[in-house]
Amino acid sequence: MHSLWDYPDFDGHEVVHFVTDRASGLCAVIAIHSTHLGPAGGGVRFWHYSEPGEAVRDALRLSRGMSFKNAMAGLPLGGGKAVILADSERTKTPEMLAAYGRAVEGLGGRYVTAEDVGMSVADMVALSEHTRHVAGLPVAQGSVGGDPGPHTSYGVFLGVKAAVRRALGRDSLDKVHIAVQGAGSVASGLVRRAAAEGARISLTDIDRARAEALAAEVGGEVVAPEAIMTLEADVLSPNALGAILTEESIAALNVPVVAGGANNQLARPGDGQRIHQRGILYAPDYVINAGGIINVSTEYLKDGDEATVRSRIEQIPVRLEQIWSESSATGRNPAEVADAMAQRLIGR
Ligand code: NAD
Repeated sequence: MHSLWDYPDFDGHEVVHFVTDRASGLCAVIAIHSTHLGPAGGGVRFWHYSEPGEAVRDALRLSRGMSFKNAMAGLPLGGGKAVILADSERTKTPEMLAAYGRAVEGLGGRYVTAEDVGMSVADMVALSEHTRHVAGLPVAQGSVGGDPGPHTSYGVFLGVKAAVRRALGRDSLDKVHIAVQGAGSVASGLVRRAAAEGARISLTDIDRARAEALAAEVGGEVVAPEAIMTLEADVLSPNALGAILTEESIAALNVPVVAGGANNQLARPGDGQRIHQRGILYAPDYVINAGGIINVSTEYLKDGDEATVRSRIEQIPVRLEQIWSESSATGRNPAEVADAMAQRLIGR
């Protein structure tokens, strides 16, 4: 039995709230890692955990990750994350959402909640009846808000271009071969933009029909899910799962660049160094995939319009360049450089 302070991702969390509401059965953790830059922003996950300690670990890990992501995106937001502990049937009731909304409201704006795994836009609307501190609500066409996916895609596209410029010395994606894992929201936006610039696309998805439809639309080629990680290409762009870069998969990579939107791509802390040692340029995931949170932040803080969101997303390649330059100058790998930069930004 160890204490909360000993969890590897505790990392000086400012406060961790354990919420229970007997009437609705709500059991939640709201972790606030840092409010150094502003209110802690991060989604709420609705998930069944095999034991409560796992939920706490997840909240801490994700909350710390949000501090880093928000800081590196230049947002006036700190980092936080909530998890609601679901039963094995994942029963979600209006009463439970109301109790969670009241708990968020009770924090007086120190934490701003948004959608994450297991939650929907409709759930955010339900929460908004109980707290003002929620983002990711549906919006009218042309207003800031709504689905973060297209914004994430735009940032990933710009990040891929920056990586190609740096590693291959090419200013355009024309004839650049990109191997894309996933054909969902983030991947499809990336693929459409890259193909429009003349990129050659190979893609995969465990949903074969989805992969085929996207490939047909952009004149790309579908490959088997197990083939994507070893495909010979100019860029591997992971846009599906986390923890895909492991000791084994890194050893088998056949690309000079890894740049994609999936969260938590590195399976273990040493994997950033492994990629670096292989001479592969890596775009730290939480930096390249910040387009969505930039949109969410602008919606919540009401501090800009669509053009503001765009220009903020266009800073993603600038930040990546800073990381890669510092990496070249110091010999430290980009993942480590990004973490150290983020720590500095949050005053640690
Ligand atoms: P999505 O659900 O729309 O798409 C994910 C796709 O990956 C699905 O089509 C799924 O079938 C496919 N997939 C799952 N396992 C696979 C496998 N083993 N091989 C190949 N394909 C597989 O999700 P999304 O919103 O596009 O998010 C993709 C990734 O980007 C996730 O890691 C997500 O956490 C991250 N991300 C998303 C956003 C956003 O704004 N949507 C923001 C930041 C990070």
